[in-house]
This record gives sequence, C-alpha cells and structure tokens, in this order.
Amino acid sequence: MKVIMEPAREIPVAVETDVIVLGAGPAGFSAAVCAAREGVRVLLLEGSGDLGGTATMGLMSHWIGRTKGGFYEEILDRSTESSDNPGLDETFGGSARQIINPEKLKNVMAELLAESGAKLRLSTRACEPVMEGDTIRGIFAESKSGREAFLADVIIDATGDGDIAAKAGVPFSMGRETDGKMQPASMLFKLGGVDYERAVFPGRFEDETPVPAGTLQHLAKEQLKAPLGHVLLVRSTLPGVVTCNMTNVPDVDGTDAAALTDATLVCRRQMEEIVAFLRRYAPGYENCYLMSAASGIGIRETRHFHGQYVLTEQDILEAREFPDRVVTNAHFNFDIHNMSGAGLDETGVTASFPQRKGYSIPYRCLLPQRVKRLLLAGRDISGTHMAHSNYRVMPICANLGQAAGTAAALSIRQGVTPDQLDVKDLQEALRGRGVLI
Ligand SMILES: Cc1cc2nc3c(=O)[nH]c(=O)nc-3n(C[C@H](O)[C@H](O)[C@H](O)COP(=O)(O)OP(=O)(O)OC[C@H]3O[C@@H](n4cnc5c(N)ncnc54)[C@H](O)[C@@H]3O)c2cc1C
Repeated sequence: MKVIMEPAREIPVAVETDVIVLGAGPAGFSAAVCAAREGVRVLLLEGSGDLGGTATMGLMSHWIGRTKGGFYEEILDRSTESSDNPGLDETFGGSARQIINPEKLKNVMAELLAESGAKLRLSTRACEPVMEGDTIRGIFAESKSGREAFLADVIIDATGDGDIAAKAGVPFSMGRETDGKMQPASMLFKLGGVDYERAVFPGRFEDETPVPAGTLQHLAKEQLKAPLGHVLLVRSTLPGVVTCNMTNVPDVDGTDAAALTDATLVCRRQMEEIVAFLRRYAPGYENCYLMSAASGIGIRETRHFHGQYVLTEQDILEAREFPDRVVTNAHFNFDIHNMSGAGLDETGVTASFPQRKGYSIPYRCLLPQRVKRLLLAGRDISGTHMAHSNYRVMPICANLGQAAGTAAALSIRQGVTPDQLDVKDLQEALRGRGVLI
C-alpha cells in the first residue's frame, strides 16, 4: 500500500479527568454512570451522534438473556414502556420489560447519565491511544472540532471492537480460533403497518411457524436469495410495529471500513426483498412497509482480546464460580449465526442450551494483557469465540460495564492501577450496588 507521512503537530488537550469511557453502548454507558456514582470525574466519549450503541442505533428489539440485580435492572425499570400489544411476554421467552423502544431508551440514558454527573462528548471518535511505555494515559480523538487529546488515569475501552485496546498493543485474535471467521453482520429494521391481531412472530430460528403456504422458516430458505433465509420477527411496544432481524451478510470484517460499506449496501438491497416476502407469505404482514432502519450495520463479532483470563465455553457450560467474579447470574446460550449462510450455525446452541444456572465472569477478563490503566468492557472482553457468542448480549454487557466502571473508580480512589485493585473491595462495592455476587 502507498503511504505518505503526516507531519507532527501540537494537539490541544481538551479534557483531563479521572476516567474516560470509550463507546456509549450498553457496556460503556453503564460503566460511565457507575463510575460517576462512585464519586470520580468521568467523561463518556462516543463516536456516533447519540447514546446507546447497538441497543439504540442498531434498533435492537429486546434485551435478550438475563442477569439478576445491578444497574441493568435500573435501566429496565426506567426505560420499559407499558403497552397494549397482546402477547409481548411470549415473543422470545423473556419478559415484556426487555422490549426496547430505542428512542425512549436514548432519552432515559441521557437522564441517567446527567443524574450521575458523568460528562458526555458525542460525535467524537477515539483514534489513537496516548501511551507512556505500556501505560495508557489518554486518547487522541477526531471530531468537528479537529484532533484533540483526552487524558485520564483510567481508560475503559467499550467500543465493541476494542479500537483503542488494539492500537495500545493488547494482543488479540479475530473471530473463531480455528479460521478467523466472524459471525455474520445484519442491519435491523422496523416494519410498520402490521396487523397484530393476525401476525406471527417467530423470534427464534427454531420457530417453524405454520402459515397457509407451509412453514415460514422453510419458505424463507426456499424463496429468499442466499445468504438470506431465516425469519426473526419480534413484537414492539408500538402499535403495528415489528422489529425485523432478517438481513444477513457473512464474511464481513467489522474492523474494515470498506467491508462495512459494502455490507451496508447489501443489507439495504436485502430489505426490499424481505418486505416483499413477508407481504406474500406472513399472515398479518400483507400491508407492512419498511419504516426505519438501524443507523449503522450491526456487527456481532470482531476482536477477542487476550486478558489475564480467557473465558471459555467450558467455563459457561460448567457454570464456574470464579473467586474473582464480578458478573454473576449471566443467563444466555451459544448464539452463533450461520457463518456462511442463513439461520443458526452448526456450533450454535439456542433452545437446547443445557445450562440453566447462569454463569460468572471473572474480573481478570476485563484486565488486558500488556497494557496498564486500561479496562475492557462489553463484547470486547477476553473470551473465546464460543464464550463470546453468549456474553455478547446486552444485559451481560451492561453488567460488565458496571463492573469496569466501579473498578476504575475504586482504583482511582485507592490510588492504585486497576490490575492492583483488591478484587474483594470491588465485589463488596458491587454488592452494595445490588449486584448479586
Ligand atoms: C444484528 C445484531 C442483533 C443483536 N441482537 C441482540 C438482541 O436481540 N438482544 C441482545 O441483548 N443483544 C443483541 N445483540 C448483541 C448486542 O447488541 C451487542 O453485542 C452489544 O450491544 C454490545 O455492547 P457494547 O456496549 O459492548 O458495544 P456496542 O453496543 O456496539 O457499543 C459500542 C459503542 O462504541 C462506539 N464506538 C465504536 N468505536 C468507537 C471509537 N473508536 N471511538 C468512540 N466510540 C466508538 C459505537 O458507536 C457504539 O456506540 C445483537 C447484535 C447484533 C449486531
């Protein structure tokens, strides 16, 4: 590749604070609020123009899986909408509380953040770490204001892809250990004009859903052009509105801007085909229309960072209780979408997932190898491809954020780095905030 040199220049320091959280998705948002509530100064810095990350801008239908206690419950208490839509509870085996109205959630997040005292900078993308040897001291970011530096004692990377952790030198691997393949990308969209009295809502790959022309999943495989071929439709709290999770693009590297662009355009083309299919085959969808689509393509999997512990499939299956656990009662399955086509991957285990106890995640998964004063939170923590397919869901990511934010704040209050923090102090603080350790 041809290269040119960028001249060295002086960069203004926009902010010096205690904790900077990168990324305002479920993990970063939770980290920022929970750190600020512990009495330290926090800046939440987000590349896009709003709060919520994939939960809101990705137009997520619902918080799937569950945890018990902690800040996640508070998010639900504040953002859940009552609704007259019948049958919300049966949609996906969860509770109606978990259904998301993305605009309401953004507003609730803004309120919670303001109440916590954490500061917010939107539309500002973290580009490079500021390093002193192996210690991260801040980040360089780009925005309408140009290039600026933001300095802090602890940085939490909750960007999903771990953009700054990667550049700071934390070792990582991409996707599946055997071949680097990553889960497919999808762009969710909302359908309007659905007749809820008659509509069907297959919320899982296993839901066959009988319709006049056959079964819906089977028809999708037969009638839609590959890599389309599954049906996932989830009720919303808004009259006549359904969230559609059916676009599907395998082999997308979510850390490559050109690949993201191509995949976005593929999803856009797929939407029209999906709407036509649903109008033809799905009862209640005869007059449905494309109402709105996510403001960015949804990326399920990219980098897996190597932390002081790597969470594995076996840890989850055995429901291991780690002595340094900071997330507990994490309930979900191995949700691996087909890596080369539609539906569930052969390694995915959803309805038949055997472990009902819930598992724990140790603090060491948030502590990266090699780089000091950095914490990982959300889907970029340290875990294998299989383990990641489970903890990547938003309730667990929110709890990971709570743990990271609390750890950052305690480290600052005690004058230690996050890797020196006594995990018993962290567990006690989390317990005091309603996390069932
Ligand atoms: C298509 C799809 C469907 C899914 N369905 C569900 C579901 O139904 N239920 C469920 O619970 N989970 C679902 N998930 C999983 C879940 O949405 C994500 O794994 C989860 O949101 C991850 O949370 P996070 O906070 O780690 O990252 P994200 O939610 O991705 O947030 C990361 C934030 O960081 C910002 N950011 C990124 N890079 C930078 C940077 N360099 N500088 C500054 N900011 C940056 C992003 O703009 C974003 O706001 C789905 C995921 C996808 C992709």
